[in-house]
Amino acid sequence: MKIENPNPIQWRFAERAEQLKASFIREILKITQQPEIISFAGGLPSPLTFPVEEMQVAYDKVLRENGKVALQYGPTDGYLPLRQWIADSLSTEGAKIVPEQVLMTSGSQQALDLLGKVLIDEGSRVLVETPSYLGALQAFSVYRPQFKSVDTDDHGLVPSSLAPVAEGARLLYALPNFQNPTGRTLSAPRRVELVETCARLGLPLIEDDPYGALSYQGDPLPKMVAMNPDGVIYMGSFSKVLTPGIRLGYVVAPLPLVRRLELAKQAADLHTSQLTQMVVHEVIKDGFLQQHIPKIRSLYGNQCQVMLDAMAQYFPAGVEWTRPEGGMFIWVTLPKHINAIALLDEAIAQKVAFVPGAPFYANDPATNTLRLSFVTVAPERIRIGIEILGKLIAAKI
Ligand code: PMP
Repeated sequence: MKIENPNPIQWRFAERAEQLKASFIREILKITQQPEIISFAGGLPSPLTFPVEEMQVAYDKVLRENGKVALQYGPTDGYLPLRQWIADSLSTEGAKIVPEQVLMTSGSQQALDLLGKVLIDEGSRVLVETPSYLGALQAFSVYRPQFKSVDTDDHGLVPSSLAPVAEGARLLYALPNFQNPTGRTLSAPRRVELVETCARLGLPLIEDDPYGALSYQGDPLPKMVAMNPDGVIYMGSFSKVLTPGIRLGYVVAPLPLVRRLELAKQAADLHTSQLTQMVVHEVIKDGFLQQHIPKIRSLYGNQCQVMLDAMAQYFPAGVEWTRPEGGMFIWVTLPKHINAIALLDEAIAQKVAFVPGAPFYANDPATNTLRLSFVTVAPERIRIGIEILGKLIAAKI
């Protein structure tokens, strides 16, 4: 039986839903997925690095040996052996982390949402870097905070710029390693200064670190959570070291907070796939990442260098860019009068794409900035794409 609606349907959405904006990047991705486009736009890891066979073997093994547990509902906080593995690997870097502090999440993106739910009231002050990860701005925005942007320079966040805006702030969201979108790294002395400053101000410091393992030069810098596990909230992800499609991340926090996050997660999705967690544990438990991560580093590091060399060759004077030591992104600053959104239209017409920088700013967007990813484009196409972009920019100078 089909029931008619006597009146046109006009449902009222919550105010928070009315103000949701589509992610500019995900919109661009729809266009740039056409194969003829040379896309520097995506934040996607390279599929060449996905351990398809190892995952397949692990799925078989988990289902064969432990299928009944893997396919059952699981605990909200996650699969204990995997949480233990994460606690152990963080503990090797300094301060002791216990598995009870680790909450498994459906991608680290979910951790951002849960942190927003638990820490932010409407109008709460939230401190973010200038610029910051768009997905975090989006996740926090749902809880309607008042964002305050904190200064950054080539060495990352400037800790001395915190004090004037920290009054009453609920959290500082920081990206110390190969930041998305700039590729910059927070220097070692600044890490110490930042942790000390946040401890003094009683300000929860979120250390979002999905790219930390992907360093191309030298050893990774110390994690801030290792300096003060009682004052730092750490977020990690398997997206960039294994594969993003499994949607597996985690948040490590002091016990009272992690308990709140767990309750928020219970309400959101009960738990993250137990099968996925068991499979990932099976893949990584005997040291797989130690031989896998160097392969990712070498692929990305090479492509990063190809892009930097091509930029040096083809970009005109007056354009500046970062020189990342890891991660996936280079950040470009054009002369002030060039608008990156207008440039994108011209670039797409010539089958090249990137992400304009403005959406990464919580306040006062710099419209002359853009983000380039070098990880999913082969070296020859990187050179072609950068040459095209260089010519388009030169024509505007
Ligand atoms: N934080 C940052 C800085 C990111 O760049 C990303 C992914 N682009 C995420 C968090 C979310 O990653 P995931 O949900 O795949 O773990």
